[in-house]
Amino acid sequence: MTHSPDAPLPAIAEWTSLLDEPANGMVEAIGGTPLIRLRRASEITGCDILGKAEFMNPGGSVKDRAALAIITDAEERGVLRPGGTPGGTIVEGTAGNTGIGLTLVANARGYRTVIVMPETQSREKIEFLRMIGADLRLVPAKPFRDPGNYVHVSRRLAEETGGVWANQFDNTANREGHRRTTAAEIWTQTNGEIDAFTCSCGTGGTLAGVALGLAELAGRANRPRPRIVLADPEGSGLYGWVKENDLSVTGSSITEGIGQSRVTGNLEGVRFDDAERIPDAEALEEIFHLQAHEGLSVGGSAGINIAAAIRVARKLGPGHRIVTILCDGGARYQSKLFNPDFLRARNLPVPPWLA
Ligand code: PMP
Repeated sequence: MTHSPDAPLPAIAEWTSLLDEPANGMVEAIGGTPLIRLRRASEITGCDILGKAEFMNPGGSVKDRAALAIITDAEERGVLRPGGTPGGTIVEGTAGNTGIGLTLVANARGYRTVIVMPETQSREKIEFLRMIGADLRLVPAKPFRDPGNYVHVSRRLAEETGGVWANQFDNTANREGHRRTTAAEIWTQTNGEIDAFTCSCGTGGTLAGVALGLAELAGRANRPRPRIVLADPEGSGLYGWVKENDLSVTGSSITEGIGQSRVTGNLEGVRFDDAERIPDAEALEEIFHLQAHEGLSVGGSAGINIAAAIRVARKLGPGHRIVTILCDGGARYQSKLFNPDFLRARNLPVPPWLA
């Protein structure tokens, strides 16, 4: 398309073929995200590495899909009734993005949310949750085995107040949402030509739903199912679990929303072909590069995913197609991943334009 002021406008069909029908409100605008070729990752490996742009969802993350699936499932089961009480309040423990998705969908459907979150999560997510009207309860960060862990606090709050506990970790409506939407979109966007899918896990809903959906669609098309590779940060038990059936944890990570020390309900029954454990510095290099040279600003878990996709591509060799998830956007972590003082204090690389 030319930008000369004298050039005639392109035929209307050229414009409209790019657009869908109007979305009937915010909820219908969730999903349908682009699949974007990551240029350098593809060039250095000779593979086709594609990132699903989940930061383009209305709430800014992949968790909009889980939020919508969980709320819709609760409505279908009759435990949530739009606009009514009791049952009009959703309670959840979250690293932030699920809380944002739940609160926005709740606002659109006439519910309220109570969001329990570890106080260590980024200021940007905390402030955004307050801004959109969540009843936010910050708690000290504690391991899952501790009764003060945010997940347990949220379950007790729901029990005490008669709210509906979203329970994103073990409620398989989460992965079911991804099976029906994320997996189906990736299959369509690649014409079913996909050799591997790699993704990190918080609840495991994204990885499990996409893995199950792609296996099902490949089976239907009589094709081999894509390899499923876990992308894990330091400080998560899942890498050891996939490799050696050992969930013990070493190290730590500055990434938020990912890493897990147990096999959640959403991860049950998923077949992994391999796992990659990615140090923070390796993930940061990917997100800094992507922002500076490819114009894509993404968060830390996307960096873990891209670094893992590059490792998978190197193992498979040139000519393969690997898909991963760009879970949320960089602006959500301005005070951390893009803050030179924060990075220097942890001996992590500082992007040259911020140094
Ligand atoms: N990345 C980010 C930024 C997240 O907030 C989350 C969800 N906690 C994930 C990745 C992981 O997604 P899932 O819960 O589907 O495993």
